[in-house]
Amino acid sequence: MRFNSIEAVMNRPTVEVNAPKQRISEYFGTNVFGDAAMRKYLSEEAYLSVKASIESGQKIDRAMADQIASSMQAWALDKGATHYTHWFQPLTGATAEKHDTFFSHEGGKGIEVFSGNALVQQEPDASSFPNGGIRTTFEARGYTAWDPSSPAFIIETGAGKTLCIPTAFVSYTGEALDYKTPLLKSLNYMDTAATAVCKYFDKNITKVTATLGWEQEYFLVDEALFYSRPDLVMTGRTIIGHGPAKGQQLEDHYFGSIPERVYAFMVDYETESHKLGIPVKTRHNEVAPGQYECAPVYEEANLAVDHNQLLMDLMDRVARRHKLRILFHEKPFAGVNGSGKHNNWSLGTNTGKNLLSPGKTPKNNLMFLTFFVNTIRAVYEHSDLLRATIAGAGNDHRLGANEAPPAIISVFIGGALTNLLNEVEQRITDGAFDEMDKADLKLDIHKIIPDLLLDNTDRNRTSPFAFTGNKFEIRAVGSSANCAAPMTVMNMIMGQQLIKFKAEVDALVKEGEKKDSAILRVIRKYITESKAILFEGDNYSDEWKAEAKKRGLNNITTTPHALDFYITPKAKAIFTESGVLNETELEARYEIQQELYFKKLEIEAFILRDMALNQIIPAAISYQNVLIENVLGLKDAGLDAKHYKAQQELLEELSTGINGIKSHVSSMLKELAKTEKLTHSHEKAIAICEKVKPHLDTIRSFADDLETVVEDQYWPLPKYRELLFLR
Ligand code: ADP
Ligand code: MG
Repeated sequence: MRFNSIEAVMNRPTVEVNAPKQRISEYFGTNVFGDAAMRKYLSEEAYLSVKASIESGQKIDRAMADQIASSMQAWALDKGATHYTHWFQPLTGATAEKHDTFFSHEGGKGIEVFSGNALVQQEPDASSFPNGGIRTTFEARGYTAWDPSSPAFIIETGAGKTLCIPTAFVSYTGEALDYKTPLLKSLNYMDTAATAVCKYFDKNITKVTATLGWEQEYFLVDEALFYSRPDLVMTGRTIIGHGPAKGQQLEDHYFGSIPERVYAFMVDYETESHKLGIPVKTRHNEVAPGQYECAPVYEEANLAVDHNQLLMDLMDRVARRHKLRILFHEKPFAGVNGSGKHNNWSLGTNTGKNLLSPGKTPKNNLMFLTFFVNTIRAVYEHSDLLRATIAGAGNDHRLGANEAPPAIISVFIGGALTNLLNEVEQRITDGAFDEMDKADLKLDIHKIIPDLLLDNTDRNRTSPFAFTGNKFEIRAVGSSANCAAPMTVMNMIMGQQLIKFKAEVDALVKEGEKKDSAILRVIRKYITESKAILFEGDNYSDEWKAEAKKRGLNNITTTPHALDFYITPKAKAIFTESGVLNETELEARYEIQQELYFKKLEIEAFILRDMALNQIIPAAISYQNVLIENVLGLKDAGLDAKHYKAQQELLEELSTGINGIKSHVSSMLKELAKTEKLTHSHEKAIAICEKVKPHLDTIRSFADDLETVVEDQYWPLPKYRELLFLR
């Protein structure tokens, strides 16, 4: 049966744009127990206690927690919530919640209760979440612990309302089982290190936070079409499908006008996001047909990560309401652009300063230069670890596929800053430091700001890690990823780097060198040491691959190998030294990632088997039969062979496809069975990557050839031209 796309189009829902009547500022954050609600519902004492916890990590005692819980409940009940949940981010990549009602039955009468204990800690059964061997099921208890720095919020699903409390998720023995715990630790570690360095320049700085602004890319497809593609339903990507005649070559989709149906969806999720305090700001079409992007105003990194996870969940729910499906997969469609999630990262101080923003005075500039060069030095030192954080089955399709950053990590800083670093390196010679004249240092970066702006308008889009005026943009992160993984490593490597920097500067000062001069000397050394990571050219080119190899930069294109960077002695050293993860936690995470990779590919192999044997081959045979009948008929009618030459050619093409698919499905299953016998998750991941995946690609290419041959009415799947051009 040919899937009837005309029917799907006829049956699509009518578009209704439900734009709210109020201004955004009037309803922004109304579903958040944020500052305004806390001031209203909390006692002065409780309010200050939460504030102190947010600002300086101060512990909230149990008595205070009781007070806060009952106020939080009062607010939630006023808002119509009936349930509460600890909301957390297990290593599955999704978010998790288990709802409990406030309602309780005491002494024959019902009341609503929410205690400090219920707020601070819960014990969900952790055995069904990935733990990488940390726990056996008999000690399955894990617990979730309240994170006061990310405000509680109310999720509305239809008329149901649930109070969600952001929490960290750890095993009973204290090991982190989620994304939030190491992120919070990395933020603390970086804060201490960065604040100490800030003191060289400004004694008023007492806290440094990482800021994150993510840009979320995604595809939208019609729900009816989605359901007729088993691969989309099971894996989030099309594992077969011939490219459409028109893809993105006309470049007419990027920033093009937004289809009304999509617009209605956007208005809807934006309204809900704003109520939840997620500051989404930008929406536009992306490069590929059917692809879009959304970006918020940046926030403190922990909050920004929570907001991204929450938004992905929200977008998925709102899309269904519009009879659409959202695809966060990095590569849902072959041959057109994949989706990423740029992570814009910077450091901000309690005094409101962006440490990666060039200033207007020489002193500020030295501060900028310090943080700028230390970031480069940190990325140079740990580029492999950064590569590991962006690894995943989906992102493998994207990295290095000539439309996304390559798998080689390098840093782009633009012409103006390249010149500045060269100047610092060349003009400041070791001996001249004592007579150093600041005015002569040519460090008045404000003079190069016009050049910087120029760099920015013409920035290099091919770089995986680019300085964009006042922040670094990590572009290699996959669209489905939890930003916490790269953010944790960014903060951690920056923290370690700044500790080293301070030690080196302090040592020089102790020897009698002036502070500014010592700072410059160390910066100069770092510039020299980390040059290999800087690259301004075309990151997609083959020349870069060759050049990177000469420079000793790794180009690891598959997940099982990239993940190995998580457990090198160097990686273990920095994770344990910083306290972000201990060795057990790190190894567990590594195991989980390898297993996840294996499982994802295994699912792809099985679903491809089903589609190939149950849909594609039968479709080809049906069409073959039509042709056979036709040829026999023509023969009967007395026509000779030259009259059915085309039919015979088609029959041959069909046979080639059918046989090709059948034999590769058999080999794929044979190889898969072998991988399943392996015991170590790493071995399994490598085997499925190297022995099974190639068959998937071959089967696809046979199937895609058949798609161009088989009569349209016999083809059982919606085609790219139907999936991608949503109207
Ligand atoms: P693009 O041209 O890549 O879309 P934008 O200038 O629009 O870049 O910014 C992209 C993202 O960068 C936004 O989410 C924005 O909030 C974020 N951003 C801006 N300044 C900072 C900063 N100091 N720290 C972190 N993110 C930032
Ligand atoms: Mg960007």
